[in-house]
Amino acid sequence: MARIRPAEAKRVLLGTHYDTRSWADKDPNPAVRQNPISGANDGGSGVAVLIALAEAWRTAPPAYGVDIVFFDGEDFGREGEWDDYFLGSKAWVRDHPDYKVEWGVILDMVGDAALKICKEQTSVDKAPQVVERLWSAAQRTGAKAFADERGAPMMDDHNAFLEKGIPVALLIDFDYPFFHTDEDTPDKCAADSLGQVGRTLLEALRAP
Ligand SMILES: [Zn+2]
Repeated sequence: MARIRPAEAKRVLLGTHYDTRSWADKDPNPAVRQNPISGANDGGSGVAVLIALAEAWRTAPPAYGVDIVFFDGEDFGREGEWDDYFLGSKAWVRDHPDYKVEWGVILDMVGDAALKICKEQTSVDKAPQVVERLWSAAQRTGAKAFADERGAPMMDDHNAFLEKGIPVALLIDFDYPFFHTDEDTPDKCAADSLGQVGRTLLEALRAP
């Protein structure tokens, strides 16, 4: 966890998972399904954006205090065994019972070269003001990857916060052909996609 402007009372949480899945269990080739994935998009992309933001904020601090949190064990479980996923965010919420934050965003799979982020359903239901803030910031920065469309509800690191009533929205493009395969490598990602997400977050945090 990294705290930017630690004395500021009005805070925002930005989180992502940094673990990558231990098995490429979705790979069409059975010979590689026991390999750990590279996770350029699924794991790497969110980390890349948050580290870039931290660097940008060294010279131009955000309007809020920001807590950047990297979660482990997001992608740990065998398919369908949900209790074994999201270990880091669940533990973090449990270990910080008095944590106060105005709102937050979880990034996951935001590096796809053909990036299209829809409004994830659980975020729309439980953190609509965060979704609204993000999409209006995206419009101001010209981030065309943010589509004005509903996306399916996802299980991800935002759920642990939403269950505690903390409004944390998920940004994800789940339509990624290389999901949990041996092919989730940097050539499937694009700097422009990461930049659209990063600039949108900078804009969303520019004014309280
Ligand atoms: Zn994953």
